[in-house]
Amino acid sequence: MIGAKTRVVGLLGWPVEHSMSPVIHNAAFKAAGLDYVYVGLPVRPEDIDQALAGVKALGFSGVNVTVPHKVKVLPYLDALDRSAELVGAVNTVVVAEGRAIGYNSDMAGFVNSLLAEGVAIEGKRAILLGAGGAARAVVCGLLDNGIRQVTVGSRDKAKAADFAASFDRNEAVTGCNWGEGSFVEALGMGDIVINCTPLGMYPREDEQPPLDWAAVNPRAVFCDLIYNPAASGFLTRARAAGHKTIGGAGMLVEQAAIAFTLWTGVPAPREMMYQTLAEALGTK
Ligand code: NAP
Repeated sequence: MIGAKTRVVGLLGWPVEHSMSPVIHNAAFKAAGLDYVYVGLPVRPEDIDQALAGVKALGFSGVNVTVPHKVKVLPYLDALDRSAELVGAVNTVVVAEGRAIGYNSDMAGFVNSLLAEGVAIEGKRAILLGAGGAARAVVCGLLDNGIRQVTVGSRDKAKAADFAASFDRNEAVTGCNWGEGSFVEALGMGDIVINCTPLGMYPREDEQPPLDWAAVNPRAVFCDLIYNPAASGFLTRARAAGHKTIGGAGMLVEQAAIAFTLWTGVPAPREMMYQTLAEALGTK
């Protein structure tokens, strides 16, 4: 039961009502027998500095941070973990001895979702559709785990090129328009194809990122960061063409598992977190 000793964590975002994180974390705290509670914390963009000061003053164990605060929160943190420095964005804050330390668990969360499905990264070639914030965490995770080449396609060639140039190992990252010849050529050699756009996300499930399906490497694994629906149109089409597919639920649960351990110091009950999310989304 929630009482005077209950440790509080939550989600700073605007809006937060749609988030699955409270459901996943509260079920995990219960399963692990921990006296913690996870709450939604809607914070307007202009109030993020006060919100973070409040999180520290109120003795929260930490918070998750989501859109639109992932980058804006950086100046108000006392220190950054290497993951947050690499990605340039924070999705998890740990408060310890009055100091707020920023992490990015999306980066390792995505990598762990591949490894959990037995998909190797080292020496492989990846293709990304989309060059936004989540794509940045994905590329950092892939580079950190020895990916050989990343080709990023987006609707805006200049944005994709700037994105590709912004990484430390940028010789391994190329950005282009997803309609141009070099992207189609890269598709034929891609081992992992990842949708990092919101195209196909509920409630616009009929949308899909454009792809020359005839040019795809038949052995490529397909991933989608979208977790609602569990199987996007993009993944459904890939599966029908015989590809192994990995949905965004894996990244969501794996990043939550990392945050859970950062806050509590104990291993996360990952399997039940997967199950809780599937039940909440009505897919189990
Ligand atoms: P973002 O920063 O807004 O980036 C979105 C990317 O998709 C940009 O490259 C954007 O291009 C492109 N895009 C958006 N709408 C498009 C359209 N109609 N046509 C073509 N391209 C379009 O978003 P994000 O934070 O990276 O999130 C991307 C997706 O990942 C979302 O569906 C989000 O829910 C999901 N996500 C999942 C997890 C997880 O744990 N599974 C974690 C984070 C994010 P422009 O720059 O040209 O607009």
